Amino acid sequence: MRIIVLGGGVVGVTTAYQLQKDGHEVVLLEKNPQVADETSWGNAGMIAPGHSFVWSSPKAPMILLKSLFLKDQALRFRLSADPRLYAWSWRFLLECTADKAKRNTLLKHRLAAYSQAVLREVIGAEDIAREDLAYDRNDRGILYFHRSQQALDAGIANMRLLESDGQLIKVLDRDEVVALDPALGHAREKIAGAIWCPTDETGDPAKFTRALAAIVARRGGEIRTGTAIVGLETSGDAVTGVRTGAGTVKGDAYVLAMGTASAGLARTVGIALPIYPIKGYSLTIPIGGQPRPPALGSVDEHNLVAISRFGDRIRVTATAEFAGYDKSHTPSDFAFMKRVTQELYPEGADYGRAEMWAGLRPMTPTNLPFFGRRHLGNLYLNTGHGHIGWTMSHGSARITADLIAGRAPAIPVDGLVA
Ligand SMILES: Cc1cc2nc3c(=O)[nH]c(=O)nc-3n(C[C@H](O)[C@H](O)[C@H](O)COP(=O)(O)OP(=O)(O)OC[C@H]3O[C@@H](n4cnc5c(N)ncnc54)[C@H](O)[C@@H]3O)c2cc1C
Repeated sequence: MRIIVLGGGVVGVTTAYQLQKDGHEVVLLEKNPQVADETSWGNAGMIAPGHSFVWSSPKAPMILLKSLFLKDQALRFRLSADPRLYAWSWRFLLECTADKAKRNTLLKHRLAAYSQAVLREVIGAEDIAREDLAYDRNDRGILYFHRSQQALDAGIANMRLLESDGQLIKVLDRDEVVALDPALGHAREKIAGAIWCPTDETGDPAKFTRALAAIVARRGGEIRTGTAIVGLETSGDAVTGVRTGAGTVKGDAYVLAMGTASAGLARTVGIALPIYPIKGYSLTIPIGGQPRPPALGSVDEHNLVAISRFGDRIRVTATAEFAGYDKSHTPSDFAFMKRVTQELYPEGADYGRAEMWAGLRPMTPTNLPFFGRRHLGNLYLNTGHGHIGWTMSHGSARITADLIAGRAPAIPVDGLVA
């Protein structure tokens, strides 16, 4: 089949790769001059099944409410004139019961763990040379650390849910944390201990996505960058073409993978996708000869700051903000995350040379992505990957390829496929 993939973030590119592997002719359409230029550019790069907890938890309503009145929260909920914010928030609140949070977290963990296995297949594939897919991978695990014993105990109790689903965890006291990453030595007294997920990993998602797109192109796939999608053409219960600034592109099947823009396009053909942008911020900082860069990824669970080591750089991310589709930022947005990182790793990077970025997580109320088809028989959804879309992209791409082939995916997808 000739399959048109709409969107060139990590979800679109991994989908194009898996479809091509199945023998399809693929054409990927991306509006930017290169792939992975939006949310897939500046994220924390964590491949983190150990971070699969959904945001729609019983604690979330109170956190949202408090954020209306308090400044400097990791979460910034703001009232706005956008009715879609309220429709989305209502659906999000309905997911916040203990039962639903548990169910959604387990579904998400299953997808994340499967996705990591698919990623390992991709990077280990015999027909892919290591240097063709270099993305500053660090497979030493991720440290989820807490600043008080009480928070650590609560974190461990929480983590038992993922452990019951196969997640490997190790509880470390502060000395063991520092032994694992001596770069945290300065912060020893600030850390009560950590949950180390030794199988979690990190890597630069944009480097990966661009390298994988180059592989797809080399194998005969078309990666049409600089091609803005303006609409879908339909006839009866099928899509017949994608209207772009450079004409209409036709295929036998279509995959919608446009991140936060998916909802708007789907709406034009009568498909309601509750995907709302939740903004996050990141800093990319060169190590620049500093003597004690982080040895592995970490999450400061108290401040909700995530730090990854990408070769000779570190990536720091924080904040979940409701700001519509606005991606603007000012230096003050980064002051807190920079201070936290600098306190933790004072000799970890050249903090004066930090590059600032903001992007939009394509969040769904359940925190699970959309797969499968609705009333248009040849339009497949693979979108809404929220806060761990780099983690879930590889498995999601494989599942999408399986659905298109009419094959049963390798993991149960009940509760995932529309
Ligand atoms: C601060 C932050 C930290 C994060 N940290 C992590 C992490 O550590 N681990 C993790 O797993 N995930 C993380 N995420 C989430 C992850 O980045 C996203 O889930 C993922 O990048 C979504 O990928 P995507 O391909 O769906 O979206 P995108 O990367 O946004 O791709 C969608 C593509 O569609 C294109 N497009 C849109 N409209 C059109 C159009 N009209 N025509 C043509 N093309 C169009 C866009 O240009 C874009 O390239 C983080 C996100 C943020 C914001």
